[in-house]
Amino acid sequence: QVVYDRGLKKSRSGFADRFNRFLSNFRSVDENFFEDLEETLIGADVGFDLALRISDELREEVKLQNAKRKEDVQAVIIQKMVDLYEADGLNEDSQMHFAPAGEPTVILMVGVNGVGKTTTIGKMADRFRQEGRSVLLAAADTFRAGATKQLQEWGQRSQVPVIAGKEKADPASVVYEALQRAKNENYDILMVDTAGRLQNNVNLMQELAKMKRIIQRELPAAPQEVLLVLDATTGQNALQQAKLFKDSSDVTGIVLTKVDGTAKGGIVFAIRSQMHLPVKWIGFGEKASDLRVFNSEEFIYGLFK
Ligand code: GDP
Repeated sequence: QVVYDRGLKKSRSGFADRFNRFLSNFRSVDENFFEDLEETLIGADVGFDLALRISDELREEVKLQNAKRKEDVQAVIIQKMVDLYEADGLNEDSQMHFAPAGEPTVILMVGVNGVGKTTTIGKMADRFRQEGRSVLLAAADTFRAGATKQLQEWGQRSQVPVIAGKEKADPASVVYEALQRAKNENYDILMVDTAGRLQNNVNLMQELAKMKRIIQRELPAAPQEVLLVLDATTGQNALQQAKLFKDSSDVTGIVLTKVDGTAKGGIVFAIRSQMHLPVKWIGFGEKASDLRVFNSEEFIYGLFK
């Protein structure tokens, strides 16, 4: 909770302040109340459909609980958001999947340039290592000049080895080498950093597919995770990226970064309701410790605190 105090400061100022303003005008729960609520939710980037759903279900709930006081209505709203987020079991899916003991878990990280992919890999590597797992990184973005060097810096900081290829080398060859090393030296986790150029996304998607084929040939149960990294500050753009990657790679979950830099924490709900992809991690800063396993209840309470 302490972590979210800092990480969600801006989201709170956009989301909860909006809500508090809304609730401070509270007189009674009537039709105007629900219309204003819908507007507030849409304005907080929750997404149109979900805003209507929350408001519809709230009508019932407020009646059921006979909520009249502002505090009670707020409590019902928060609980409703938690319930709706957790419906369909997506919350259970927010757990990471690992390979059975004795086999390396392979995590493929995808997303467009600048969203925080390399930084997130560094943070996750650091965290896994602290949990006592051995981690190997593969720098499969051989396209962007600085990408390998940046990953190597994180590797050094977290004392995690990095497999890199020559500039412009076939990313699949880097992945192949990393897989051999991970298997032969019994690494627990192999994380693969991939390219994120969007200028030619057909090539990019083919490149990702090829990597995946090679991973599956070497380790049929892998990759256990294909994590799509999205920048929370980009709002609707993030949703478009989610759609693009979801359609062409089998994304298993989302890492939402830069939550500290946005008042648009509501985007979590839009991703959830429009993309049906579980958010698995939240990044809220540039340091290794600024990463947290996503928990919807904690996140939603954090927005209102
Ligand atoms: P990549 O191109 O997707 O690999 O993105 P990078 O990992 O290079 O990150 C791009 C920039 O975003 C860097 O300056 C990072 O320090 C910054 N960054 C990454 N994650 C976060 C985050 O959660 N919060 C903030 N404030 N900055 C971040």
